[in-house]
Amino acid sequence: MSNDTVGNVMITQEQISKRAAEIAREIEKDFCGQQIVLVGILRGAVMWMVDIMKNVDLDMVIDFMSVSSYGSSTKSSGIVKINKDLDTDIEGKNVIIIEDIVDSGTTLNYLKGYFENRDAKTVKICTLLDKPEGRRVEIDVDYIGFTVDDRFIVGYGLDYDQKYRNLPYISYLEE
Ligand code: 5GP
Ligand code: MG
Ligand code: MG
Repeated sequence: MSNDTVGNVMITQEQISKRAAEIAREIEKDFCGQQIVLVGILRGAVMWMVDIMKNVDLDMVIDFMSVSSYGSSTKSSGIVKINKDLDTDIEGKNVIIIEDIVDSGTTLNYLKGYFENRDAKTVKICTLLDKPEGRRVEIDVDYIGFTVDDRFIVGYGLDYDQKYRNLPYISYLEE
């Protein structure tokens, strides 16, 4: 541990709040008059989950899942393991997966299939960050906060070795 250093602020809390409110309006339009189930993916999506849920004025239930595909390293293993499953029956429900970042696409591709197999009515993805250069699996991402370059991002929920999740802004790790 640690001679890692955090770089400059890339995206501020204010920018994130503003974007969350915009996405919330889209979600309200897309699911007008219907119930939605927000599924936050622990632990990286916690801050973004709060931003979205408090801005969306719809009939809503929330749940969380914990999956792992990365260890403490900065590269994807490609393997998805469920550490904590849903407590909610999602059959016939409108599920919106709340993620911190889409990189290779492996995690969300797996989760989308997992929810579809449990007969969700619809499965949408809402990610704080998208890193398109990292993509290895084709995946439709419905709601994207911000698109970022191929750097290792930390802050606003995202960690390096469990650190920096508490930073109230998005930054990156300096090599
Ligand atoms: P994917 O399966 O799309 O490759 O990666 C999904 C997960 O890897 C994300 O939910 C996130 O936990 C982690 N991840 C991918 N890129 C980054 C990054 O730049 N920074 C951090 N902290 N985690 C990342
Ligand atoms: Mg994640
Ligand atoms: Mg992580």
